[in-house]
Amino acid sequence: MAQCTARTPADAHVARRPCFFAWPLDNGPMPQAPALASIAAGLVDLGRRAHARGWALGTSGNFSAVVAEEPLRLAITASGIDKGQLGADHILEVDARGSVVGGAGRPSAETPIHLAIVRARGARAVAHTHSLWSTLLSEAHAGAGGLALEGYEMLKGLRAVTTHAHREWLPIVENAQDWVGEAGQLEKVLAENPAAHGFLIRRHGLYTWGRDLEEAGRHLEVLEFLLEARGRGGAAGESGAGGQP
Ligand SMILES: [Zn+2]
Repeated sequence: MAQCTARTPADAHVARRPCFFAWPLDNGPMPQAPALASIAAGLVDLGRRAHARGWALGTSGNFSAVVAEEPLRLAITASGIDKGQLGADHILEVDARGSVVGGAGRPSAETPIHLAIVRARGARAVAHTHSLWSTLLSEAHAGAGGLALEGYEMLKGLRAVTTHAHREWLPIVENAQDWVGEAGQLEKVLAENPAAHGFLIRRHGLYTWGRDLEEAGRHLEVLEFLLEARGRGGAAGESGAGGQP
């Protein structure tokens, strides 16, 4: 076989010649593996949809999905990115400790929350929004430690829920800035509420998750709808479901 003289995979392809070489350092980043590229596209789509609905305005909110389990690799939106401008190059890859192992940029300070949910729930995708209704209701119901959503047909959009009579209890946790230090407390709340499909952070927003990006996106739409229905219903004088788990 003739010696390979190609310097890049593209050259080798043009020359129709098998070549084995390291990706040259001066040729930009390695192309993403197909799995990561497709997950990144899904995260971009979800982030942009959440922005369009007004649930993740400005740089708020973040979205993640598991790329590999052993060792854990999580694709997550980079910090400080306007979700209306989100692109595939704004998706980072972090390890189980939240250290960046792929992509450029800084991971969100809330990365430990995503990792805690993946650990505690076996989730494959996590969605987080700063919507108006999650912000308002998380304050209004903070004293009760959570918010019940009950009697709505839309509850059936949540995994394993088959009747509108389901009572969904969303725990409310206090806001923080050091989520590395709060991860243990968060996992405790998740363990105490094994049936919950999401939780609220006080005056901050909503977290939900799913077995894949599609399910996490569906849970996000369902819970945001229910929170808005609950909030508007309360404003309209509806008594609604109340305050105890
Ligand atoms: Zn947040």
